[in-house]
Amino acid sequence: MTTIGLGMPAARRAAPDTAGRPEVAGLLDRHGRVARDLRISLTSACSLRCTYCMPAEGLPVVPRDELLTAEEIARLVQIGVRDLGVHDIRFTGGEPLLRPDLAEIVERSARVAAGASLALTTNGIGLEKRIEALLAAGLTRLNISLDTVDRDHFARLTRRDRLPAVMRGIDAARRAGIAPLKINAVLMRDTLEGAADLVAWAIEHGVELRFIEQMPLDADEAWVRDNMVEAAELVAALAPRFALSHPHRDDPHAPAETWLVDGGPHSIGIIASVTRSFCAACDRTRLTAEGTVRSCLFGDDETDLRGLLRGGADDAAIADRWRAAMWNKQAGHGMSLEGFRRPARTMGAIGG
Ligand code: SAM
Ligand code: SF4
Repeated sequence: MTTIGLGMPAARRAAPDTAGRPEVAGLLDRHGRVARDLRISLTSACSLRCTYCMPAEGLPVVPRDELLTAEEIARLVQIGVRDLGVHDIRFTGGEPLLRPDLAEIVERSARVAAGASLALTTNGIGLEKRIEALLAAGLTRLNISLDTVDRDHFARLTRRDRLPAVMRGIDAARRAGIAPLKINAVLMRDTLEGAADLVAWAIEHGVELRFIEQMPLDADEAWVRDNMVEAAELVAALAPRFALSHPHRDDPHAPAETWLVDGGPHSIGIIASVTRSFCAACDRTRLTAEGTVRSCLFGDDETDLRGLLRGGADDAAIADRWRAAMWNKQAGHGMSLEGFRRPARTMGAIGG
């Protein structure tokens, strides 16, 4: 696939090949999986510069008229839920709180997504000013990303001294009664040392902590397979302070494996995206902020829906194009295969 500037893959404007696809309503792929979990990126701009995600200078600015509007997002949400069987929706980015119209996006989406969950993944900066409006608009779930509770370490990791701002966002979410409040931490060699403190903090604050193995989606391309921290190494590193036991999956599609801490009732999640890939059970479909369907984090073959939306296509035509895009979803991320290539987009430009 050719790429156009800024690391963005060229979006396919014609329908992808659907030879062999049975006439079914949902987002079925050639490997028998059906996508029901929709991730929508709202922007690739961000208030932080996490080293495992963004370049120090940030990603290039996408012109505002290239971003989907609140109305366009809600129309795609409606098609996804009503016609394609989507039942979980998550807004992400970049940093979704940088969209001034975030509450409007949630509100318009909630109106047309009856029965579906509406979640947000955020770094939490500025959340205290927005949380009430987001909940009133219909937000049902919230994940906040936090890799360390040490201020200096946070500043190094995110290239911004903003830990107090993130903590204000987390406090506001807890006060607003969001339960469970999920906290995402990326597992890196650099974060291993502070991991036990993060677990202690999570237990003390009654939040659900999940560690995620780092994937090769960093703009700096510093990820090296031989040096990445695997889930097993985290379990060993926590052992002097916490005994983890009884790993289990609450739901077969859930990427996180839950481990009891010191025999329970507290637990933490570990998402072993690299070492125990869950691609065979993947039920995700993604929309980039510019309105392309991306069937896999690691697949650069993108299909444009924005052109159809702006060109006056009806819902049936948009649903058909979306189905066709998903039919061609690749079997897996292929990270362990010889010849694996990183995708052109990095995490902040895809939407994690
Ligand atoms: N800015 C928001 C945030 O940080 O929560 C939303 C976007 S961020 C890309 C979504 C999630 O992806 C975050 O939990 C982040 O930690 C995770 N992430 C970013 N880069 C990653 C990488 N290279 N490997 C694994 N997870 C990553
Ligand atoms: Fe921003 Fe989230 Fe990426 Fe960190 S992980 S740089 S907060 S988009």
